[in-house]
Amino acid sequence: MKYYSTKRQSQLVSLKEAVIKGLAPDNGLYMPIHMPVIPNAFFNNIKGMSLQEISFAIANVIFKDDVDAECLKNIVYDTLKFDIPLVPISDNIYSLELFHGPTMAFKDVGARFMARLLAYFNSQEADKSPINVLVATSGDTGGAVANGFYNVEGVKVFVLYPAHKVSKIQESQFATLGNNVYAIETDGTFDDCQSLVKQAFLDKELNQNIKLTSANSINIARLIPQSFYYFYAYAQFYNVNDKEKNLVISVPCGNLGNLTAGLIAKKMGLPVKRFLAANNKNDIFFKYLTTGIYKPKPSVQTIANAMDVGNPSNFERIMELFGNSYKSVCANISGNWYNDNDIRKTIYDLYVRQGYLLDPHGATAYKSLEQNLGADECGIFLETAHPAKFKDTVEEIIHKEISVPDNLSKFANGVKESIPLPNNYNALKSLLLSI
Ligand SMILES: *Cc1c(COP(=O)(O)O)cnc(C)c1O
Repeated sequence: MKYYSTKRQSQLVSLKEAVIKGLAPDNGLYMPIHMPVIPNAFFNNIKGMSLQEISFAIANVIFKDDVDAECLKNIVYDTLKFDIPLVPISDNIYSLELFHGPTMAFKDVGARFMARLLAYFNSQEADKSPINVLVATSGDTGGAVANGFYNVEGVKVFVLYPAHKVSKIQESQFATLGNNVYAIETDGTFDDCQSLVKQAFLDKELNQNIKLTSANSINIARLIPQSFYYFYAYAQFYNVNDKEKNLVISVPCGNLGNLTAGLIAKKMGLPVKRFLAANNKNDIFFKYLTTGIYKPKPSVQTIANAMDVGNPSNFERIMELFGNSYKSVCANISGNWYNDNDIRKTIYDLYVRQGYLLDPHGATAYKSLEQNLGADECGIFLETAHPAKFKDTVEEIIHKEISVPDNLSKFANGVKESIPLPNNYNALKSLLLSI
């Protein structure tokens, strides 16, 4: 399978090149030239299959020409060593709990897969110099990527993050590891970090001196594995629902990677009727869905901070999937946006009513289902992070202390080691060349 750039000004590349380059030279995003369709027979047998089995089957359809099957199986099985259970919340609403990985957020899936795929490709290179992975984070990406790559041989990871704008727990997940993981604390916003990273990739001189790659959700190797759990959600849904039901999937949106992965799953044949896209106050995608006009704007801070994105990078991919047709987008996706008080109220209400504790991100997606589900529809929302990652926020809402799982508390006991960086590209460049 070849990959093309959404800007169409650069050549088709192999999976290996797309993964190592991250961003295409013309500043576009890589997409597979065609979307393989999964035969119906697969869906008849999907009940009872495990997450690892389903994921390998899907991965093998997409990546079979590019990765040796045995190696691919190892990559998939090693990536998904934790479960992604579908938990019933009410008669027609289910939570897909994506937070059982090492950093307790869904980004573990894409980050762990990418780390293993990159190590596989680099091991085949003649030039054995290390790959430098550069990533901007608004919170959870950094932890997932840093842990996904931690101690992987031949790889260095640089995590750029906005000072004081990520939670203490999030920061501890990437800034206390050391070894091949460098935490870089800038005095800008997340959008500034993302723009610094983009400049580095477009800097020819820098790229001649070091092997540089991205691990943001723009990287195709992070995006595609996120499709796997949509198939697994479907399998679990049909373990308990016999009749054909209209399935609606609701996704909390930031950079739109998770939603794009769901749309890819649908394009491959997954029987989902429609998607809901939930925004927080950063309502750029919501505005697009309701007006047809896409207008990036500076991000504002909310209690669902991993969704504080002012120019969601995967928007371009969604446009590609629907042939740039606003009408087709709207036939498949509708949206809502919620302010911090809506989010707080949603968390409080569901906790009091059902005893289920949402995190601020999942809460937006849950609320959207509650508001939009038709009588003939069943909904699954993506619960993208463990609520204890936002302990202070959540405790203030439910007026109760919550316990922190060992997975998270072990990071909090580490010592923070970060490199301060002014919001300035030349400073970043010298740093990358000096380490
Ligand atoms: C990153 C993140 C999101 C947003 O996902 P995108 O793929 O960027 O749209 C939502 N919730 C949590 C917890 C996240 O970490």
